Amino acid sequence: MTIRLYAMTCGWLTMNLKAMLEGAEGKIKVPVPCYLIEHPRGRVLFDSGLNSQVLTDPAARLGKIAKYYDIVFDPGMDIAARLGAMGVGVGDIDYLINSHLHFDHAGGNDAIPDCPMVLQRREWEAANDPDLAAKNGFMRQDFDHGHDRILVDGEHDIFGDGSVVCLPTYGHTPGHQSLKVRLDTGDVILTGDACYLRRTLEEMRLPMILHDADEMRRSLDKLKELQRRGARIFYGHDPEFWATVPQAPARVA
Ligand SMILES: [Zn+2]
Repeated sequence: MTIRLYAMTCGWLTMNLKAMLEGAEGKIKVPVPCYLIEHPRGRVLFDSGLNSQVLTDPAARLGKIAKYYDIVFDPGMDIAARLGAMGVGVGDIDYLINSHLHFDHAGGNDAIPDCPMVLQRREWEAANDPDLAAKNGFMRQDFDHGHDRILVDGEHDIFGDGSVVCLPTYGHTPGHQSLKVRLDTGDVILTGDACYLRRTLEEMRLPMILHDADEMRRSLDKLKELQRRGARIFYGHDPEFWATVPQAPARVA
């Protein structure tokens, strides 16, 4: 059984590097990644990127956080267009997995309306708690579109065969999760924002944007252990790493 993984760049964000790497100077331009996984029993989307309204009016869509980002998001970069370019319709997705509910990971959820969303229960609960939602910068317009929800607690095996498994990596947000995908070449871990950059893991250096530093360190320890055992870590927003990842329609081998 072969699992196919496809990487898509759904925009670019330029921001202060220190937001991603505490104490660092300067700016960084980072990709907004989404992933399509094709399993013999269904298609999985891991994160949905930015909302299509960011194409036309980022300030209106993102509100007060818009000023922290210079955004490149051109026609053809939104998730529906990226999938369409591969011949995949938005109705062909069977599971929409969100690493977490920030605007650059769940903003395109409304474009994928006909399948359940899979997320950690504690992420959903945080997004619906006014204090935690405000603290974490969750915006209801990103994630509240009436999807059926599969709320999971910790590890969750999507197809029951160990090939596509949600891994809790809390800390960046209360219920952040990563995704383990078993390719013929070995395990890949799509880390989302549990690990922004290669340097995050190599230097164990936390970002400024986080919910719980201790939990985030524990999640990084877990990723490091998976890496030590041979898994390939796909950093969430690392432009140098991303330049080495084949883009859809090519497969990640
Ligand atoms: Zn992000």
